[in-house]
Amino acid sequence: MIPRLDLQLKSLSLTKILAHYQEEAHKAAQEKLSYENYLARLVEMEAMSKLDRSINAKIHKARFPSLKTLEEFDFSFQPQLNEKEIIRLASLDFLEKKENLLFLGPPGVGKTHLAIAFGVKACMAKYRVLFIRTQDLLTDLSVAHKTGRLGQVLLNLSRLDLVILDELGYLPITPEQANLLFQLVSIRYEKGAMILTSNYGFEDWGPIFTDQVIAAAIIDPLVHHSHIFVINGNSFRMKQKLLPEAA
Ligand code: ADP
Ligand code: MG
Repeated sequence: MIPRLDLQLKSLSLTKILAHYQEEAHKAAQEKLSYENYLARLVEMEAMSKLDRSINAKIHKARFPSLKTLEEFDFSFQPQLNEKEIIRLASLDFLEKKENLLFLGPPGVGKTHLAIAFGVKACMAKYRVLFIRTQDLLTDLSVAHKTGRLGQVLLNLSRLDLVILDELGYLPITPEQANLLFQLVSIRYEKGAMILTSNYGFEDWGPIFTDQVIAAAIIDPLVHHSHIFVINGNSFRMKQKLLPEAA
């Protein structure tokens, strides 16, 4: 043990190297490992643990209500959903291209599951992600507006690589809220990707908004450069109720 080395590793937060350098030195001697390989092994350990931590931090910051993966998604239950396209999008090039994904359909068909799964994939690739229910976002924006922090909050939202808005249209949107949503959609347009889920198809979005002009101003940029998935199959929750042994 070299006390000075221990102190320096500690102050540089190289905790894995600190914990393992002695035992790895023994192993390296036994295995007649070169100095370079010994160093490479230690740095690899540190890198792996830092990567894990930074991914975990990203997932934590994204505020997912639960963790879901694409691998868990049973595509055979939604046969008209374009599985190939979903798998292709999992390469995440839509994030680089600042495109949007829209999942539309009735409750229980897996819209939120897919949105979270893409979000988790994005976190694992080190993108900055936020998952938020549309109503919660509108409340946050409204509070920010009233307290003079709207500009800052919008700026923070514009810096994320992916914003996932869940359940658009679950409650009607007031003209003031529509205005705030419009501002968010505008600042992210062609600058950052979004994923949106809604129980409504576009043709039914009119009634969600009282003002049709602002409705169009929100929907147009969302739909431009987007991949739209309409899922009209059965509810997975019902499947679990009806066929518990198959769940
Ligand atoms: P939605 O957002 O469309 O209302 P959810 O994504 O919340 O539906 O799905 C409801 C539940 O069913 C979740 O627990 C989800 O993980 C699960 N689920 C839905 N569709 C599938 C599927 N095709 N394969 C596996 N699990 C699914
Ligand atoms: Mg949902």
